[in-house]
Amino acid sequence: MKTIEHWINNKPVAGSTDRTGRVYDPATGRVTAEVPFATVEEVDLAVAAAREAFPGWRDTSLTRRQKILFAFRELVDRHQEDLAKLLTAEHGKTLPDALGEVNRGLEVIEFATNIPHLLKGDFSENVSSAVDTYTIRQPLGVAAGITPFNFPAMVPMWMYPIAIACGNTFVLKPSEKDPSASMLSAELFAEAGLPDGVFNVLHGDRVAVERLLEHPDIAAISFVGSTPVARHIYETGTRHGKRVQALAGAKNHMIVLPDADMDLAADSAVSAGFGSAGERCMAISVVVTVGDAADKLLPKVKERIAALKVGPGMESDSEMGPLITKEHRDRVASYVAKGIEEGAEALTDGRDLIVADHEEGFFLGATLLDHVKTDMTVYQDEIFGPVLSVVRTDSYQEAIRVINDNPWGNGTAIFTNDGGAARKFQNEVEVGMVGINVPIPVPLGFYSFGGWKDSNFGDHSIYGPEGIHFYTRPKVVISRWPEPIHRGVDLGFPQHG
Ligand code: NAD
Repeated sequence: MKTIEHWINNKPVAGSTDRTGRVYDPATGRVTAEVPFATVEEVDLAVAAAREAFPGWRDTSLTRRQKILFAFRELVDRHQEDLAKLLTAEHGKTLPDALGEVNRGLEVIEFATNIPHLLKGDFSENVSSAVDTYTIRQPLGVAAGITPFNFPAMVPMWMYPIAIACGNTFVLKPSEKDPSASMLSAELFAEAGLPDGVFNVLHGDRVAVERLLEHPDIAAISFVGSTPVARHIYETGTRHGKRVQALAGAKNHMIVLPDADMDLAADSAVSAGFGSAGERCMAISVVVTVGDAADKLLPKVKERIAALKVGPGMESDSEMGPLITKEHRDRVASYVAKGIEEGAEALTDGRDLIVADHEEGFFLGATLLDHVKTDMTVYQDEIFGPVLSVVRTDSYQEAIRVINDNPWGNGTAIFTNDGGAARKFQNEVEVGMVGINVPIPVPLGFYSFGGWKDSNFGDHSIYGPEGIHFYTRPKVVISRWPEPIHRGVDLGFPQHG
């Protein structure tokens, strides 16, 4: 069995074994690795390495930083399959899906390679007689990232390439459930020429996170994970004077109007509901049908679910893999039971699924629950599994009210052939990312990603231009050089001119 190590100062460092976690192959249910849970002293060691590296890295020229990022981009590109295999082995998602994840992370690295352009400031000549004003954006210091299990390569890549490109140093605390992709990424970054201490990876649980939140040498925290933890991270981090962005859980709705292309809507609902076994923060978990859309749509959704091939992510014909742990699988299955108990109708029930030769794997089939009401537990909680709920409504107004009354606001979509209805929806819906006939509206690396309401605490979205803003602070300089005009002491604000 493999033992995972921390990564500090560009080398692996064995962690304390006082408290450890288990990494599973979710397709077989077997334990494949032991991961150390960092102690407070180990967190301090990683932060000290990052702090020491900061002045040198901050003053490294933009073109040198860019070269290292280009080299990192090439290495990640070359190792896409190695990274993807680690994701499938520890998370369980299918290999093509894992490759897609690495690709989306790569996009952010590619965005970060533009750093000389992205950090350009403003300059105004002669704001007053012989006085110029300009702005520069400077890095914050040591930034920390705390990331979830569901995108073990991509979500960290939403953070550290941009933070580091901006001149910060970084300590990443990835999910303890699937830590290996972060280790390979760190090795590749070192191979690309990143100086010691600029990127560090520390494994652990809440003990490590609490220390990062209060550590005086941490300037900024980026978090992605569930809503209760995000709220805690935001409140605690800001209380300790840090800049915090905390992206959180979700319940994403997809409205289907009666005029929609029902084949497109059915393909989209199944792909977005069951891709990665529903363990995506942008997964569609509720289909909100309007009028008779449900009767036209649901037979098509059922047909597609029946054809889904659930199996180990490494097998080429698998379309949906297992869930992350046995506990999570059982929790999701209990939601299906609760939904039926509370009055929902199971059009398909994934609880009976058995994957041959993988009886100990954490598999659950796709479940479609019809006639779900907004006061049911299946509607109110984030399930984070292969369960698609259908809420039937009589009108567009009722449908959008369902979405806007929901506390989360990560992603949403509308399926219609009516441009006016789509435009009205995009204007009225209280959600941060909106798809029009697109079920999972995740922006590319040169835009920014971020939900609203309980899906995002703090006022920054992540990566793209907002990432540059988050990881830098602006400084404004007002300068006068030639032949200063000595006007004598004047305690008033200067007048224009
Ligand atoms: P999680 O909140 O359990 O864990 C996220 C991170 O926080 C992990 O590194 C974990 O070790 C740490 N953590 C867990 N409990 C903690 C605690 N009590 N105190 C301090 N740290 C703690 O989330 P998860 O189960 O790994 O990931 C799934 C969740 O992440 C879902 O809710 C999903 O919607 C959300 N998510 C959101 C986005 C987004 O962009 N909004 C993206 C991906 C995942």
